Amino acid sequence: MKPTNDMSCFLAHAIVLEDEAAEQYDELADTMAMHRNRPVEELFRRMAGFSRLHRDEAIELARLHAGALPDLKPWEFEWVGDESPESAAGDQAHYLMTAHHALQLALAAERRAEQFYAHIAASSDRPDICAQAAEFAAEEAEHAEILVRWLARTPQPVRGWAADPDPPNVVE
Ligand code: ZN
Repeated sequence: MKPTNDMSCFLAHAIVLEDEAAEQYDELADTMAMHRNRPVEELFRRMAGFSRLHRDEAIELARLHAGALPDLKPWEFEWVGDESPESAAGDQAHYLMTAHHALQLALAAERRAEQFYAHIAASSDRPDICAQAAEFAAEEAEHAEILVRWLARTPQPVRGWAADPDPPNVVE
């Protein structure tokens, strides 16, 4: 069973991907809240909401069309890379990260998600999976576009942004 030949397996991947994306956006939003950057914090909360809507849509599609979701173990997922596409950048989040960096991380995650869905759409010979994956890929491309526009008007950080002489106690 692979995401390219089984709809429920494909949707299980989409659910994990979107759930992890939402969590990453929550973390990035919290980081921007620490920076008191309300506009970018609100952008990330909104993007987290998109990911959860997407996840819920995949859950609903699974319920309607694919029967029960497979109970996949983490190692049974087949991503294009090792980690699920939208979460791969999560470890790079840093409390000193500027809005520019945060937007770049988010953009990279959206692009990986788009690539994952586009890869499924291009390599599956199941028309229903291809169509669904292509639709999800198009939505990820729209998310990426939003971030590209924000990046265009968010200034580049100065060098040395990660050097904090007085780090707060951050509980991970
Ligand atoms: Zn997305």
